[in-house]
Amino acid sequence: MEAALQRRVWRRADGRCEYCHLPQAGSQAAFEIDHIVARHHHGRTVPGNLALSCAVCNGYKGPNLTGRDPRSGKITPLFHPRRHKWSYHFRYEGGTRIGRTVIGRTTVGVLRINHP
Ligand SMILES: [Zn+2]
Repeated sequence: MEAALQRRVWRRADGRCEYCHLPQAGSQAAFEIDHIVARHHHGRTVPGNLALSCAVCNGYKGPNLTGRDPRSGKITPLFHPRRHKWSYHFRYEGGTRIGRTVIGRTTVGVLRINHP
């Protein structure tokens, strides 16, 4: 991936994981640039398909595009950082991230967003 494109993704995310919102500063593992729609599913390396991600979120997300809503069990799309607004789908309760919507709940579960 071109360095200019990587810089653009980092700047747009303001150095935070776009899934769990943890900042790279102070994090143990290096952040990664995630293909929201994985290359495995023919996702392209373009700004609209890239998100800055911590290694934990990226590792659990893998090539997944959906997961099961823990409340209803229904297959549900995961949070898409380019199409969805974080504060609409998640909220903080202390240091814990809570899914406000079915997409938020599913993403918290699949990505283990509150994993220590
Ligand atoms: Zn994360």
